Amino acid sequence: MGCGKEHGNLFNFLTLRIQQELQMFPEDKRYDMARVMYGLTNRVRFLTGEDLTKVSADNFGSYIAIPGGTVHIPVGFVGVLSPLIKELPECCVKFGKPVGLIRWGAVQSRKKGPRAIVQCCDGEEYCADYVVITVSLGVLKEHADKMFCPALPGNKMEAIGALGYGNVDKIFLDYDKPFWVWSEGGIKFAWSPDELAQRTDWTKGLVSVEEVEGSKHVLCAFISGPESVIMEQMSDEQVAEGITKLLRQFTGDASLPYPSTILRSKWASDPYFCGSYSYMNINSNVGHQCDLSCPVPGSCDPVPPILLFAGEATCAGHHSTVHGARLSGIREAERIIQLTKKFGGPPPQL
Ligand SMILES: Cc1cc2nc3c(=O)[nH]c(=O)nc-3n(C[C@H](O)[C@H](O)[C@H](O)COP(=O)(O)OP(=O)(O)OC[C@H]3O[C@@H](n4cnc5c(N)ncnc54)[C@H](O)[C@@H]3O)c2cc1C
Repeated sequence: MGCGKEHGNLFNFLTLRIQQELQMFPEDKRYDMARVMYGLTNRVRFLTGEDLTKVSADNFGSYIAIPGGTVHIPVGFVGVLSPLIKELPECCVKFGKPVGLIRWGAVQSRKKGPRAIVQCCDGEEYCADYVVITVSLGVLKEHADKMFCPALPGNKMEAIGALGYGNVDKIFLDYDKPFWVWSEGGIKFAWSPDELAQRTDWTKGLVSVEEVEGSKHVLCAFISGPESVIMEQMSDEQVAEGITKLLRQFTGDASLPYPSTILRSKWASDPYFCGSYSYMNINSNVGHQCDLSCPVPGSCDPVPPILLFAGEATCAGHHSTVHGARLSGIREAERIIQLTKKFGGPPPQL
């Protein structure tokens, strides 16, 4: 992809390629092969969390796959963070303290006050030389217009609007009597193109059901796109019913049991996430990711930066990943170190 060519949306791009590939198979194999290939498009969908008709085919390739494969962290990210947290002074990280408003720059200068004041939803305020904003792009889309005073510059708001933010969820299914052979591998749903064209049912967003490492009685179903948002609104019973019906349909075994318990994420409905991760939609490009990552005020402004932006969506090439989020945090920490060196300490007050 690339070379300045416009390939439109990823669904049309993949459909064209699939049709070309299908011609290579004997006619009697094409229906089954189509199911396999279209089923795999649902897996591609999981990488963006959005319907592929909204994803840019040209910019999909801007994502850089890093070598090393997938690493499973047994105790979760606490294991990665705890050595760093140990180095921090006690109580300097505040948990359960949502920020409602960030007053910065021009507004502060009238009072000859600090460069920024971070106001929490419980009313408590913190003065700051720099504020690193790491809320998700989903939260920025919902709240950026009321979260900053003065408002963010036009190009920042445009980037927030243009970049896509998708949704994926995991549904854990706990069975009293496991029905599968342990370690046999998961089920990937081979949807036909006709089935996928009629996305009337939320279960069409289900990508696969996999065994959970270390457990012999829990499966995990992966779901993405608008169907995952619908799933979040349903009751546990409805979700268990839908997945069981689907498993019975795809395995041909009408006696498969219902799970005894289910546990699922609800990233889209969580007000502190508003979705799962960013993607490049048909209206966005790498320039928007760069605009999102730029500090405010910008480099042409005489006032040194006050608002710094980090988080996966600000990391061009590595968006939607943990390593992208980490790299962006290091980038902004480095920026503060360089500014501190430049000013020989805190930045000049306004
Ligand atoms: C199901 C699923 C599977 C994934 N699998 C992988 C994977 O295998 N590999 C991979 O690399 N990535 C994966 N990701 C993506 C990865 O989790 C994200 O890219 C990463 O967590 C983004 O980190 P972040 O710091 O940018 O944002 P977030 O993790 O969204 O952190 C933002 C923080 O801001 C806080 N916040 C929000 N609003 C406020 C407010 N008003 N005041 C104060 N704080 C606020 C939130 O509570 C949150 O702690 C997956 C994501 C999902 C949902």
